[in-house]
Amino acid sequence: MTASPTHWDEEADVIVVGYGFAGATAAMTAHDLGAKVLLIEKAPEAHKGGNSRVSANIVFWPNDIDKAKTYFRAMAGPYMDDIPDEMLDVWAREMLANKAWLEGLGMVPVEIPYVEFPEFAGSDCVHVLLNGEGPVGGERLWRLIEASVDARRIDTLYETPVVDLVRDGREILGVTAERLGKRIAIRARRGVVLTCGGFENAPVMVRNYVTGLPTVYPVGTPYNTGDGIRMGIEVGADLWHMNNVSGPILSFKAPDIPVAQWLNLAHGKSYIFVGADGGRFTMEGEPCSVGDAHGKVRRHGQWQQQSLPLPIHMIFDETYRKSGHIGKAGADWDVSHGNRYDWSDDNLREVAKGWIKTAATLPGLADLIGIPADALADTVARFNADAREGYDPDWGRKANTLAPLETGPFYAMELTPAFVNTQGGPRRDAHARIVGVDGEPIGRLFSAGELGSIYSFLYQGGGNIAECFAFGRVAGRNAAQGADGDGTARS
Ligand SMILES: Cc1cc2nc3c(=O)[nH]c(=O)nc-3n(C[C@H](O)[C@H](O)[C@H](O)COP(=O)(O)OP(=O)(O)OC[C@H]3O[C@@H](n4cnc5c(N)ncnc54)[C@H](O)[C@@H]3O)c2cc1C
Repeated sequence: MTASPTHWDEEADVIVVGYGFAGATAAMTAHDLGAKVLLIEKAPEAHKGGNSRVSANIVFWPNDIDKAKTYFRAMAGPYMDDIPDEMLDVWAREMLANKAWLEGLGMVPVEIPYVEFPEFAGSDCVHVLLNGEGPVGGERLWRLIEASVDARRIDTLYETPVVDLVRDGREILGVTAERLGKRIAIRARRGVVLTCGGFENAPVMVRNYVTGLPTVYPVGTPYNTGDGIRMGIEVGADLWHMNNVSGPILSFKAPDIPVAQWLNLAHGKSYIFVGADGGRFTMEGEPCSVGDAHGKVRRHGQWQQQSLPLPIHMIFDETYRKSGHIGKAGADWDVSHGNRYDWSDDNLREVAKGWIKTAATLPGLADLIGIPADALADTVARFNADAREGYDPDWGRKANTLAPLETGPFYAMELTPAFVNTQGGPRRDAHARIVGVDGEPIGRLFSAGELGSIYSFLYQGGGNIAECFAFGRVAGRNAAQGADGDGTARS
C-alpha cells in the first residue's frame, strides 16, 4: 500500500485492474456511463483475457429469480451464513439480466444441457448458454466481449502489473503499477475496480488457504497470482471463500510449460488412477478427471472436497497406450500463451521423454514409481475382476468405461492437481464494494469476478463467468458514480 504520491503519472475516472470478463464488463459499464476508464492488464496483449479467454465460455443463466436463490442456497448449504440476502438478491437479479445484456452485445445464445445438481430445489431454473453454435470453448464469447471493449476504444495498458493501492485513510485514490521497468502512479478520480482474478498460480497462498494440496498448477492463465488478495489485505479488506476452489482436477504438467494440461481419456478403458499407497481413490474420467462436480465429490451421502493421496499416477496397459493420445494435442495446449506441443497419437514420444514410465510387469512399474508393488497388484486384480463384471462397486465408474489392464508392458504417468479457478478473495457487498475487516466498505474500492466470488461451496458450471458479468456491471456502475455511489467525483 502506498501513501498519496506528490505526482500522478496518469489519471482516469475509473481504473479497472485485470482484463478478463469481469474487468471488461466493469470497464464497458463505467465507460457507457460517461466515465473515462483505464483498463490495466499484467499480461502482454497477446496473452490477454485471463481465465475468461481460455475457459469453456459457458454461461449459467437462471431464468427465475426465486428459483435461482433457492438453488444457490442449496449449493452453499452450510456455507450460506455469511452471504447477506441483499447480496444474493442482487446476484439473482443480475444473473437473470445477463442474457438480455449479452444479446445486446450480439450474443446468439445456444443452450446446452448442464445442470450440475439436478436433485436440488430450484434446479429447473438452470440454463447454460454458449455464444453461437460450435463446440464448448473456442473463445467465441471472449471474442464478442473483446470486440465490445475494442468498439468503445477504452484505454488499455498491457504488461503493466498493478502492485499497490494508493489510499488516503479509508479511501482509495489510485494505484501504482510497474510499467517498462518503472513504478508509475495512476490516479482514479472516482474509483478502482479490482478484477485481477484469483490465486491459481500462487503456490504459497494455495498451501496457506487450501488444505491437502501442497502443489497445484493452473489450467488457465498463469498471471493470476493472488495480487488482488495481497492488495486487499494491505488496505484492511476482509477475505471470504478462500478455501473454495473449482478443483482439484487431475492433469499433466510438462516441465517447461507454466500451466497444466487437461487429460484426454475417453479413447480407451484399461486405465486407473492410484495414490501413494497403490490404491484407487476416486471414479476416474473426464472432464475433470476425478468424476466430480468441480472438485467436490459425494461421499457417505455428503458433498465434500475431493482429497488427493499424492503422488498420484495414472496406470494403464499396452492396449490403452495404443488407443489414443492422453495429453491434449496442438492448439488445445496452453492457448493463452502460445505454447504448443504435439502429443503423439500413440504416446510413445512421451514415453521417450520420460513423462510416461514403462515396465514389462506391474511389480516392475511399481518399483519404478516408488509405490508398494503388492498393493498395486491387488488394486489391478480387483479392478480387472470388477471390469470383467462391468461393475465398479468401489467408486461407481460407469460400465462402458471399464476394461481390465491385462496387456503388458504397463505404463505410469504422474498426474498433477490443478485448479480450474479459485473463488476466494476480498469480501464484497451487494454494491460490489470491497468490505474491510470492520464490516465497513473501503472507500472507492470495488471488485468483480473470481477475485472474492460469491460462491462459497458447491458451484454450478457457468456460474463464474455469469458472476463476472453480473457484478462487473454493478462494480462498473458504482465506480463510475463516484466515492459513495452518489455521483460525487473527488476533485
Ligand atoms: C480452463 C477453464 C475453463 C473454465 N470454464 C468456465 C466456463 O465455461 N464457465 C464459467 O463460468 N467459468 C469457467 N471457468 C472459470 C472462469 O473462466 C473464471 O472464473 C472467470 O473467467 C474469471 O474471470 P475474471 O475476469 O474474474 O478473471 P480472469 O479472466 O482470470 O482475468 C483476470 C486478469 O487479471 C490480470 N491480472 C492479474 N494480476 C494483475 C495485476 N496485478 N495487475 C493487472 N492485471 C492483473 C490477469 O492477467 C488476467 O488477465 C473456467 C476456467 C478455466 C481455467
